[in-house]
Amino acid sequence: MEKPKHKKQPKTISPARGKLTVIAGPMFAGKTTKLLTLFSVLSNLDFSILVFKAEAGKNGGMGHTRSHDERPLPVIYIGMDEPEKILQYAYPDHDRKAGRKGIQKVIIDNVNFFPKDAFIKVVQTLLSSNIDVYVNGLIYNFRKEEYGATKALMAMADECIEQYSICVRCGGKAAHTERIAGGTEVSIGTTGKTTAKYIAVCSSCHRIYTG
Ligand SMILES: [Zn+2]
Repeated sequence: MEKPKHKKQPKTISPARGKLTVIAGPMFAGKTTKLLTLFSVLSNLDFSILVFKAEAGKNGGMGHTRSHDERPLPVIYIGMDEPEKILQYAYPDHDRKAGRKGIQKVIIDNVNFFPKDAFIKVVQTLLSSNIDVYVNGLIYNFRKEEYGATKALMAMADECIEQYSICVRCGGKAAHTERIAGGTEVSIGTTGKTTAKYIAVCSSCHRIYTG
């Protein structure tokens, strides 16, 4: 029997790095449902997990997020201007080695709300301490522009799951989200004091809401 050829072992072993999984697509594509499934599988396997959700409004605190099919998921809410707060929860004693013995997985919902560069830094910090990161975000805003860090994270991801919805106008494959009510400010969620209403549409049926 032939011996399998082994690559030469490097002299210095680089520290283990976490894996990045990105779930991306328009609203109503089942992205949060996918996160809920991941959460239940990972918790059944006894991983130590933290779940965060970016908020357009600043409600703060803990609570539950719900997918459109109404299954609850326990989350820590993070205001959209302060993604760095995620690190305070992941490393409670400012110990950047926490990932080795502490939190093993971090799930973050609605990442499109966070400022792109600041959020990418947060993800890189988590990955560099061997924490696996699962994020979920819209690729485009209602103006069909790139939204937050989602697209950049897709390019960095170890695994990228792109999900689609059904266009409410033509029944085709929907990759976009159209705003149909609410203000014209970019980041308005569907909960909180100011809310907007959305539908999923295909690129050709998409209209840009002007108020
Ligand atoms: Zn359409």
